[in-house]
This record gives sequence, structure tokens and C-alpha cells, in this order.
Amino acid sequence: MHLTFLGTGAGAPSLQRNVTAIALTLSRRGDTWLFDCGEATQHQFMRSSLKPGRLQKIFITHLHGDHVFGLPGLLTSRSMAGIPEPITLYGPPGIRQFVDTALSLSGSYTTFPLEIIEISAGPVLDNGEFRVIAYPMNHVVECYGYRIEQYDKPGFLDAPRLKAEGVPRGPWYQDLKAGKRITLEDGREINGADYLGPATRGKVLAIFGDTAPTPVALQLAAQADVMVHETTLEAALAEKANGRGHSTTHQAAAVARDAGVKRLIATHFSSRYLAQDREKLLAECRAVFAATELAQDFAVFEV
Ligand SMILES: [Zn+2]
Ligand SMILES: [Zn+2]
Repeated sequence: MHLTFLGTGAGAPSLQRNVTAIALTLSRRGDTWLFDCGEATQHQFMRSSLKPGRLQKIFITHLHGDHVFGLPGLLTSRSMAGIPEPITLYGPPGIRQFVDTALSLSGSYTTFPLEIIEISAGPVLDNGEFRVIAYPMNHVVECYGYRIEQYDKPGFLDAPRLKAEGVPRGPWYQDLKAGKRITLEDGREINGADYLGPATRGKVLAIFGDTAPTPVALQLAAQADVMVHETTLEAALAEKANGRGHSTTHQAAAVARDAGVKRLIATHFSSRYLAQDREKLLAECRAVFAATELAQDFAVFEV
């Protein structure tokens, strides 16, 4: 899996940063989920190695423009490109009206099936491979952060060893792969668990929406492999940041530390910060939580 940051700016785009969009690529085939879709996300998509046809799900944290203004363009261009694969769009109440209104007033439509699901706090999706849970953020409008839990993958079945021991191939291989016991026609009992390699632990990601500090953050990010959190402003501007429903470097890093995550990726930087300010913002985060990196547009992080 890897994360591609398509936009890392807060509020308005700058020449260095587009507004928020984060792509999570799940498989070697390039299957992708998008978290937020600020204006011009489709342009950023084209400049990246991501494939619009592999975009399957879009999760919106909240309806502020820097997180949703890219949706109509992204969806209609994907449609014009003749991509038939469906998209499911998740977001807070109002997301349906926003998309429907933008499409209908502009005489636009999608040629692919577009399902829009308005979420509330709690489980959002469980497809047997991943589970996604939404947590309420502390922002000036209804806003959610998403916890993405990948299920553990069972180890590979040692087929050559089964063959060597005279276990014929057959439909029972499915049960063996699941670690179950089977009885062969000759009466032998085979325990699948004895023939499985080590399981791979599923990854956990915590992708926050815009938020001032909130106790819920610790549940959202608990023991996550990767936590993505906004750091709109520097540590000295906590009052200003929190008053607008945002966090500082120190506050994001404190959540990472207290939630026991492995890595923090900081993003959503105010347009007041220029390239030369990155060192300072990074140092502030690392003073509290060492395993911090700063996102920038088109940065890719392996998960
Ligand atoms: Zn924002
Ligand atoms: Zn916002």
C-alpha cells in the first residue's frame, strides 16, 4: 500500500501546494481510494502515476471547499474518459446535495454508477479486506476522520508439501487455506493450520479531517501504522489554530505520541508557510514525536 499526497495546502491553493487530497493505493493493480478532493485534484491526478480507472472509493472528511471543490470536475472528466467502473462516495450529510446540484445545474452526469453514502460516526464500510470507521472531529462544521483497518492476511498454503505427503488437490484446499481440519477419503486427518505460513498483520491507517484537539483522536489513531494529521499552523499560534477548528504542529505530534502510532505524516499547511518554513514545522513536530514526516504535493509514502 502507499499514500500519495495530491494536495497539502489548507484553505486556498498556493504555487507550492494544492488543496487537500490524499490517495491510498491498495494493491499492485493500482486500486485506489481517495480521501478528500480539493479543487484541481483531477489535475494532480494526471500529474501522478495514479489511474482514474482504478479509483474506486472517495471519502470526504467535510464539506469545506478546500476538501470538496474538486469533486464535480474529477467525476465528470472520468465520465468523459469513458471509464465504466463504479465509484462509491462517502461523506457527511450534504455531500449528495453538493454533488447532485453541481452536476445537474451544469448539465453534467456520470456514465458510471455513482453511489453516494452520507455517513455518521461509526462503521462506514467492511468489505472483508478492509474496515473503515468514521470518528467525529472537532471542526467548525461536521467533519470526520477515517480509521482504515486492513484484516490480517492468512499465510500461504504449502501446496508442495501437501503434494509430497500425498494429499490430492481438491475443493478441500479452500478449507486448508482457511486453517481448518479436513478428513481425506483414506481417513487421514489434515490440519490446515499446520501447512500455513505466517500470517501478515493488516495495516492500520488513521486519516484525520480538519480538527482542533479532541479526545476522540486517541481512539481514531490508536496504534496506527500511519497517522495523517493536519498541522495548519505552527506551535506558537495554537489559539488562532484552535479557534478555527485546526491544530498546530505540537498538537498533532502529541496525538501521535499519545496514541502510540508508528509514524506521523503532517499535512494541510497554511498558505502563509513557504518552502523555507518546512524545516521549522518539521522540527516542531519532531520535538514532540520523532517519527514525523511532512507531506508535500506528490510525495509518496509506503505503508
Ligand atoms: Zn481544510
Ligand atoms: Zn475545514
